[in-house]
Amino acid sequence: MQETSADVSSRRTFAIISHPDAGKTTLTEKLLYYGGAIQMAGTVKGRKSKLHATSDWMAMEQERGISVTSSVMQFPYRGCLLNLLDTPGHGDFSEDTYRTLTAVDSALMVIDAAKGVEQRTVQLMDVCRMRSTPITTFINKLDREGRDPVELLDEIESVLKIRCAPVTWPLGMGKSFRGVYHLEHDRVRLFADGEVIEGLDNPRLDQLFPYEVEHWREQIELVREASESFDHQQYLDGELTPVYFGSAINDFGIRELLDDFTDHAPGPLSRDAGRRVAAEESTFSGFVFKIQANMDPQHRDRIAFMRVCSGRFEPGMKLHQVRTGKDVKVPRATTFLASDRSHADTALPGDIIGIHNHGTIIIGDTFTEGEKLHFKGIPDFAPELFRRVVLRDPMRMKALQKGLQQLCEEGATQLFRPLIGSEWIVGAVGALQFDVAAYRLRNEYGVECSFEPVQVFTARWVECDDAKMLERFKSRNESALAYDGTDALAYLAPTRANLDITQERWPDVTFHATRDR
Ligand code: GDP
Repeated sequence: MQETSADVSSRRTFAIISHPDAGKTTLTEKLLYYGGAIQMAGTVKGRKSKLHATSDWMAMEQERGISVTSSVMQFPYRGCLLNLLDTPGHGDFSEDTYRTLTAVDSALMVIDAAKGVEQRTVQLMDVCRMRSTPITTFINKLDREGRDPVELLDEIESVLKIRCAPVTWPLGMGKSFRGVYHLEHDRVRLFADGEVIEGLDNPRLDQLFPYEVEHWREQIELVREASESFDHQQYLDGELTPVYFGSAINDFGIRELLDDFTDHAPGPLSRDAGRRVAAEESTFSGFVFKIQANMDPQHRDRIAFMRVCSGRFEPGMKLHQVRTGKDVKVPRATTFLASDRSHADTALPGDIIGIHNHGTIIIGDTFTEGEKLHFKGIPDFAPELFRRVVLRDPMRMKALQKGLQQLCEEGATQLFRPLIGSEWIVGAVGALQFDVAAYRLRNEYGVECSFEPVQVFTARWVECDDAKMLERFKSRNESALAYDGTDALAYLAPTRANLDITQERWPDVTFHATRDR
């Protein structure tokens, strides 16, 4: 059966970005519920705790209440097929979280009304900005006392550098939260019972809220005057975000959000792979943005998560792995319909497939039907945490090196070999990654090691067109320089001040916070 391009454009591949506890899990649950993927709210949380403990590895996840295995949730909604990519956020925050954002076409941002813009959200938005990803904003927990909505929007604009176009507006907050008003539809939905009231001048509002309604009317008039109205193109360009208010746990304000999201969010976008690859092209292409190891301890295999960019994937297909130049037959792949992993029939652009392999696929790999494409923008991100590796048994050095190199290729952790000294430094974005690395080194490579603190604040990949200048830079900063797993030169700044001073002193040297694979 030939798929029409309408099927491709109906895909909405997105992620939720938020700071821990803002309500991402709760919102995910409601979205899956609306998509008919789960029967009852509560299932996503349940999945966190009810992981089958089939291995120590899984036991480790379970102990920590972390789901490393829930990755992609596909569900239908109003004629669209939504692919929600999980962005691990609590202890399991890692580079995967960042890289997942390179595989989506848009994102939903959840902000806690009491807390406003928090640090993790800032970091995730930095990644979204790299590709001008369209952002839809949901301000959550209006059933609690929170901050003034105008102040919240100001904060989003100034801290996250994106203009806000409120689409709904809250009527009251906390104990006096009465509902949301849809600025475009001129319609109120009440929090207490979901009643819909057409028009802000509707006398029904005066009748129900005689002491509050005038204030709302004044406020909304001001909001209309002072704020931007939604502009679809500016949204698609990542310059403006539509903003919705509600309460995820009370399933309030979510349908408005989801309806507009499916209408406005882009389908699979074209991507740069040396040339621009359009989703509508008939030949297959895709790239790997995440590797997950040991999902099945019996087989020690890894799953490579691939975003389909063009064409279609069919089981049994022969794919060309551009990096190695080899053709590999993919007898089966995993798809993620309705949060259940099941065998794929076909996958279209925007969809994610999981390919089993034994370490032959690495992050950033492009697969095609033969064309030498290379999808750009699946970078390594400067780690935020650093530890030095202390090996217990010096005889196991070779095994340690092999293991660390492999983990590095998978993108689980990053490896740095300082120019001076023999000690190796491992970098990660989330603290759990060190535990995972130690666990896997022990189990897969028979190496006992520990990760000890080291005085490194951040890493920057350095580049300089002037070879002589680079040599001078190297000799002056030898003690803070290292080669990463791919022999690229990195500056390991002991403190933020060091980084600032060094950057100032060497204006012709560029310091990159990300590095394209
Ligand atoms: P995550 O860490 O972003 O996934 O956040 P969760 O969805 O786990 O929510 C964090 C906490 O906030 C949980 O205790 C939720 O029950 C609570 N929560 C989520 N949404 C709301 C809401 O709309 N109102 C209130 N009062 N609490 C909420």
